[in-house]
Parts: sequence; structure tokens; C-alpha cells
Amino acid sequence: MSKVSFMPTPFDGEHFAGVVSRKVTLLDSSNPKPVFERMLSEDSSLSNQRIYHPLIDIAANAYEGSISREYLLRKHSLFPYYSPSMHFRDVDKIINKRIRKGGLWKRCEFIEQVPSLSAPLCRTLSFSLAWRWCPLCAIEDEKRVGTSYWHVEHQLPSMITCSKHACELCESCNNCGFSSIDIRIMATPPTTNKCTKCGAIHRASYVDLNGHITWVQQASMDLLNSPGMLSKPYFEHVMKRGIQSGFSNLNGGRIREQVFVAARLQQDFVAWFFEHGFERFFHEPEAVINYKTLSLEKALRNVNGWHPLFVLMWLRFLAVEWPSLEIAA
Ligand SMILES: [Zn+2]
Ligand SMILES: [Zn+2]
Repeated sequence: MSKVSFMPTPFDGEHFAGVVSRKVTLLDSSNPKPVFERMLSEDSSLSNQRIYHPLIDIAANAYEGSISREYLLRKHSLFPYYSPSMHFRDVDKIINKRIRKGGLWKRCEFIEQVPSLSAPLCRTLSFSLAWRWCPLCAIEDEKRVGTSYWHVEHQLPSMITCSKHACELCESCNNCGFSSIDIRIMATPPTTNKCTKCGAIHRASYVDLNGHITWVQQASMDLLNSPGMLSKPYFEHVMKRGIQSGFSNLNGGRIREQVFVAARLQQDFVAWFFEHGFERFFHEPEAVINYKTLSLEKALRNVNGWHPLFVLMWLRFLAVEWPSLEIAA
């Protein structure tokens, strides 16, 4: 890992990958990829569905303590959204840069560079390829700080609209289809909302979201803005145990009938999923349903490592109460 001497200060809610990309564009805007290659020891494509990317350490080193690694993870990455449903070992590896050998209290090995980690099953999700932006935030940002930038929030695959403006997030040009899959070459969303390829203007559009999708969006924002320590995610309990407890409430503890109740609920869930428009979150919703990617039986055994969107849909379906943030504040 080579040392970088100067790094722009991240803007409010900016994704750290966008910060590094802005920096690299300042160094060499005509050919940024080799600059990234010199910084990293692994293939450094900047997809928007990385839970962790080693560039965060390069940025943290460049700030030399003025902005901490923990702050970058918390405010400028998707890590807080994923960590409550992640396996403890992965959370520990990313936060403390160490690998535990043989269980919780055994020997740990500290590592210099944590390898990048992609979100689970992200290929099945609609909003997991192109970096997204809000056309109204982009204009406001340009007025306020002089440039549009990639927001962490807009990369949440369980959001359809901007939490501030309620318009749909853009992911590609309506006219020519151009999109930003790897932001090594596109450090910011298109300036003045003008497509860099064909010149068409991106405009805000609005959709009506039903109460279930609105709930999932709100819970996703809560996850991203979780209070408390990074290593003890505030929503960990509901994300890891909520489906089980919602199920036992419905099942009334009748162990022998559990399998039948789960099978019936699975059928009801499939109907609910399509009735309320959840298919829009997936590339091939039928495949996700048929291949049991969203299987309740699986979730009852273990939800460790499930995608947060999967957990949130089940929690909403089972009417599990979402913990209030007021108590924590
Ligand atoms: Zn916005
Ligand atoms: Zn275009």
C-alpha cells in the first residue's frame, strides 16, 4: 500500500470511494486507473456494493488522525447498514483489522490490509450495479460545495427514493443508458445533471411508495445512521433475532407444527412480496423466490450473513416491531 499525502475532506454523507476518486482525478484526470493500481495490492474496481474496501485505510492514513478510520467507516461507508446482520468474525476483522484463529477467545492475528468484502447476494439486487444519485441533491451540492458527489445513502440497495427529496434515485441515463459502475472513472455524478455521454438532462421523477416499502426504506436509513458503538450495532438484536421471535409469536410455541406453519407463511410471504411491489428490488424476482433465497426455514436456522433487505422484508411481513431510535439518543 503506498502512502498518499493529501486527501480531500469528505462532504456531508459522501461515500469515501468518491472522496478517493475525486483525489485521483486531481492527480491524473485523463487516466485515473493506474493511480488506483499503485495504491492497492488487490483489484480495485469501485463497485457500490462493497461492505468494506481497503481504500478506506488509504484515506484514513492520509488524514493522519484528523479524520479517524472509525469515523470513515461510520459516516462514509455502507458498513453500519450491513454490520447488524453480519457474522461477528467479519465485523471484528473489519473494525479491528484482525483475524481470530479458532473461536472467540483464542489467538488473533493482526493484518495490515483487510481484503475487500462485497455485500451478500448483491448480484440478485436491482440497485447493486450502478452508482446512484439524486438529481436534486446533485444540484444542491453543486450550489453548496461546488460539486455533486456520491452519497452513501443513495447506494443503499433497499432505497428507491432520496430520503430528503422523495424523488427516485437515478442510476442511468434515460436517453442513452449510460451508467457508472466503477467510479474510478467517474468521481462525481454528472455535473448539472447532464449525461456525460449524450448530453441529455436527468430530471427528478416521483413515485408513490406503499407503507411496506416506506417502512423498509426508513429502517434502512436507521441502520445506516445507527447510534452506539460500531462493534456493538444498535439494531443487531432485531436483525439477528427478530425473524425468529416474530415467528414464535405467530406460532405460539407449538414446536410440532412449526414446519407446517413455516411452509404456510412462506406461501403467504410470496403473495405479499408481489402484491406490494417488492419485486422491483430484484433482477429476477421469480428466481429469488423459487431458489429459496428468501426462505423462512433458512432464516429460522440462521440469518447471520443475510442481506439486510431480506431481513427487513421478513420483519415487516411478520409485523415485528422496529426498535425506536429515540431511546438510544
Ligand atoms: Zn435528494
Ligand atoms: Zn445519456
